[in-house]
Amino acid sequence: MIRKTRLFTPGPTPLLPAAQFAMAAADIHHRTPEFRALYQRVLAQLKEFVGSKNDVILMSCSGTGAMEASVSNLTSPGDRVLVLTAGKFGERWTALAKAYGCQVDVVEAPYGKTFSLDEVRAALKLETRAVYMQATETSTGVRHDVKGVADLLKSAKSEAVLVVDAITGLGTTHIDMDAWGVDVLVGGSQKAVMIPPGLAYLAVSDKAWERMEATYNPRYYFDLRKERKNAQKGESAYTPAVALIAGLGAALDYIAAQGGGDLATGRAQLVENAETISAMMRAAVSALGFKLFAPESPAAAVTAVLPPEGMDSGVIVKELKSRFAAVITNGQGEMKGHLFRIAHLGYFDYLDTISLIGALEQVIYATPALAAALPGFEFGKALVAAQKVFAGRKPNQAALDAAEQLAVAAK
Ligand SMILES: *Cc1c(COP(=O)(O)O)cnc(C)c1O
Repeated sequence: MIRKTRLFTPGPTPLLPAAQFAMAAADIHHRTPEFRALYQRVLAQLKEFVGSKNDVILMSCSGTGAMEASVSNLTSPGDRVLVLTAGKFGERWTALAKAYGCQVDVVEAPYGKTFSLDEVRAALKLETRAVYMQATETSTGVRHDVKGVADLLKSAKSEAVLVVDAITGLGTTHIDMDAWGVDVLVGGSQKAVMIPPGLAYLAVSDKAWERMEATYNPRYYFDLRKERKNAQKGESAYTPAVALIAGLGAALDYIAAQGGGDLATGRAQLVENAETISAMMRAAVSALGFKLFAPESPAAAVTAVLPPEGMDSGVIVKELKSRFAAVITNGQGEMKGHLFRIAHLGYFDYLDTISLIGALEQVIYATPALAAALPGFEFGKALVAAQKVFAGRKPNQAALDAAEQLAVAAK
């Protein structure tokens, strides 16, 4: 049997062919008018994609580089910051803030859950200078309430800047940075924007830019103010990942085309796509008797599933790979063996989703221990559940309307 390799991983995600062609053709120097035209176009597109009037800074690094920049640029040693965490990426904020000498308060929820806003309110102090959180926690498949946290900071009249790692949130969940009052929104290239790893971007509010005038943690390569100055001239401070930037331009063109030429509408379509296929996947695995790891606040970016009691999730990961070349992910860190994760962000469609569900049924059928642990297994159970979800799905008018308003406001 031919087995086409397919990624179902929450970064890197499948590549858009048009972006691959653009990358292969990007034989240009970065201090030329050609590059400046490309860079300015992509920065303008990114702003529309993020849905913000704020400047967007593009950096040649993985997502964590932009996370680090939003700690090193926005804090000084000894600053009190609040981290909201419920997984591996939340823990990364804590580690980063500690590395830069911050005093870190933490609101923690168990893996698979989201934190309570009451606890956030209680942990917020007058001196809190920054709040760090994820929009979606990729290690557990949870969606957090960014708007809830933003509202809470507003009502508490907090001075804190709100920094959101939306690396898997952008393009999978509705975020209105400007209206909600998010100060920094971080994205990464290998997630919903369908290109390889290596670029990160941040939208930065006026309040956050002002904050940077007074903070003094060390920074050099990741100096956001320097990048902003250079971006105004159509350049980056150092040699940028030129090919990835060309790929990003092509990918944003594609996303705009999905929205009839409008990037805000295209992003809303991308969110709707992830919402639909993640709902199909949740219905499919539940119909097979699996338990969802995050049933209360599931992210559309990635679905985390528990293996049957006493079984190692690695069996499913391994069988999907060896039999069908379908690459899903195991649990991260100490969750390895206890979870398997299937991504829905970016360049995935209905057929990808149906195929993977069919392959999962084959894996269960052919693995006696799995079939025994999922009583009542029958071919088609998961597929039927997913088909019903798809057929019953109405386009999410609310999200589309919100995107349209944003597009109008941005004009
Ligand atoms: C992928 C990801 C990151 C960034 O990881 P890198 O490996 O540095 O790109 C950060 N936060 C979340 C939520 C992610 O999914």
